[in-house]
Amino acid sequence: MKLNAALMASGAIALTTGSLSAGAGAPAGSAAGGDGAGFAPSNPFYAPSSLPFQAPPFDKIKDDDYEPAIEAGMAHQLTEIRRIADNPSPATFANTFIAMEESGRLLNRALAAFRGVSQADTNPSLQKTKTALAPKLAAHSDAIHLNKKLFARIAAIHARRESLKLDPESLRLVVVTYDEFVHSGAKLTDSDKAKLKAQNEELSTLSNSFTTMLLEATKNGAYLAADPAPLAGLAEGRLAAAAQAAQGRKVDGYLLPLQNTTQQPDLASLRVRDTREAIFRNSWNRTERGDTNDTRDIIARIAKLRAQRAQLLGYSSHAAWKLEDQMAKTPQAALAFMDALVPLATAKARHDGADIQAVIDSQQGGFTLEPWDWDYYAEQVRKSKFDLDQAEVKPYFELNAVLENGVFYAATQLYGIHFKERKDLPVYNPDVRAFEVIDADGATLALFYCDYFKRDNKNGGAWMGTFVDQSKLLGARPVIYNVANLPKPAPGEPALISFEDVITMFHEFGHALHGMFADTRYPSLSGTATARDFVEFPSQFNEHWALYPAVFEHYAKHYKTGAAMPAALVEKIKTAKNFSEGYDLTELLAAAELDMQWHTLPASAPLQNPDEFETSALARTHLDLHAVPPRYRSSYFSHIWGSGYSAGYYAYLWTQMLADDAYQWFDDNGGLTRANGDRLRRMILSRGNTEDLGKIYADWRGRPPTVEAMLTYRGLR
Ligand SMILES: [Zn+2]
Repeated sequence: MKLNAALMASGAIALTTGSLSAGAGAPAGSAAGGDGAGFAPSNPFYAPSSLPFQAPPFDKIKDDDYEPAIEAGMAHQLTEIRRIADNPSPATFANTFIAMEESGRLLNRALAAFRGVSQADTNPSLQKTKTALAPKLAAHSDAIHLNKKLFARIAAIHARRESLKLDPESLRLVVVTYDEFVHSGAKLTDSDKAKLKAQNEELSTLSNSFTTMLLEATKNGAYLAADPAPLAGLAEGRLAAAAQAAQGRKVDGYLLPLQNTTQQPDLASLRVRDTREAIFRNSWNRTERGDTNDTRDIIARIAKLRAQRAQLLGYSSHAAWKLEDQMAKTPQAALAFMDALVPLATAKARHDGADIQAVIDSQQGGFTLEPWDWDYYAEQVRKSKFDLDQAEVKPYFELNAVLENGVFYAATQLYGIHFKERKDLPVYNPDVRAFEVIDADGATLALFYCDYFKRDNKNGGAWMGTFVDQSKLLGARPVIYNVANLPKPAPGEPALISFEDVITMFHEFGHALHGMFADTRYPSLSGTATARDFVEFPSQFNEHWALYPAVFEHYAKHYKTGAAMPAALVEKIKTAKNFSEGYDLTELLAAAELDMQWHTLPASAPLQNPDEFETSALARTHLDLHAVPPRYRSSYFSHIWGSGYSAGYYAYLWTQMLADDAYQWFDDNGGLTRANGDRLRRMILSRGNTEDLGKIYADWRGRPPTVEAMLTYRGLR
């Protein structure tokens, strides 16, 4: 059963696993034990939504509706769980596993909406609710996972699972649920369970504090210029957006808000070197200013506590515990995979760095390449070597055209699905658009919401999430959303985006397809409820269609003239893409290694000094390139401290291997066709976690994945 209480899942996650599925049937009313006081029929979560697909009624939901609904939802689910655990009849698959799958519907629908809104459209009141709920949700998850009678029933069925003649999906549910309970400490002694509960609650509170501090620190790290002079080089539209952003915060001048990654997109065009350095330093030091948003003590404490928790659960490290149910299985396998990539990636980055230094020297720059120079001069190398100018490219990537004629179009070609905008569905912010997704046979398949523009009250990065998870058991069909932080144009201007942003849209939509095509019985096994090192596979695979000729030609048209992008420019984008691969892969590897180094610390290791730890970890793994800092510094690495990606950041690279290997198959078998798309949908995208993921992949591919295609596509050899 899905009991991911990862409410504190925060910014920068590329994917928010829609952990709890909403469904029909109102539990309401009977909230036990006095929790959820103030929960009444007037609360919009009291009964299932009457909107299509039980979409959240955002027009009725007020900020103070969430907390009582979630509290009542927890209380109600505990009553349901107690009823299952205390059932005098012997344990059966139906009275234990199916009953568990059916529990918690009120909690699920309230939590799914709250998670979506508190990450994408938050405010002080929602942040306060989140802080109050975080430890309670962690305790709720523990109360279920550590219920002895419940686990005894689960273990009894698990022990005789082979003799029960269960269908394969039900059998998988038994194994996954049992493993999850053991993983969560179900076999511990009572005193160790008490210790575990205390650790989980402290960790959840620390993670939540980290997220709150990071959001504030990122906001405070914005760069403010009194006049346009320091911003020379910015395109007119960006300058107007910067003026708009300043107005939004009621300050004079021009404001460049920080993105959550180390590097900031505007550094590619800012001519004044001091401005670039100032923005870079704002970014790099955002959480290391010695003020109330300095996260260093918190992350050291989280790392230590996680190692202690792993030891309590019988593992050598947090990473060993986390990877047990992943495709990679062990930290060693993930580390070996990364170690093999390091020499190829860093050699390419060093080679590109030398090209950049040559440009600096040819202009009598008189300085050594620094991280804040990389994108600016890389842009010039691209211009001189590949003659590519971003300002020339962006007019061909108008956001709406990219969405409807690119992202949606590719999905129509592959899977036969169509999209119809639904302006009648309530949304949580006017930026959000809602679409009905219509299947090839004409039936409605899903709802899809997108919320692409950056706002100050939105966590950084881009992600996918679910308001409703698909489940045949619960009669629930998917309601999916994509969120991103693309620059919002000044009023009346078109949203012209970079090719990187185009890729982000294809990426997140790949996750959305994984959620929309889900066709499983049990909510716990549905859609994106897979291992972290599998879940980024459909999304990275979907990125490949952005440059596929028949798709590209269909969306990349000049926003004013409608002219197709000139063939020479397309060629340049393709060639120039490889120029950044060395940098991109190295910064990703550096972040992934930092994550793994932090989380392979044993419980006996002392509390770390984050700066010293980071420096030595990067040196040890040969990723200490001065001009190529990690994509996230430890102190603002929200994936690993604020959300569920701890010991899992390597998954982006692991799944890149799967994505490239899979695209190679398409390339070898006729490319963008309905037959190919339907085969992928049937064998992978619809199947969630209903079978061993390595087997699902190998059955579709005809063999296990190899890294060969990745090395070729990324231009590493
Ligand atoms: Zn992703």
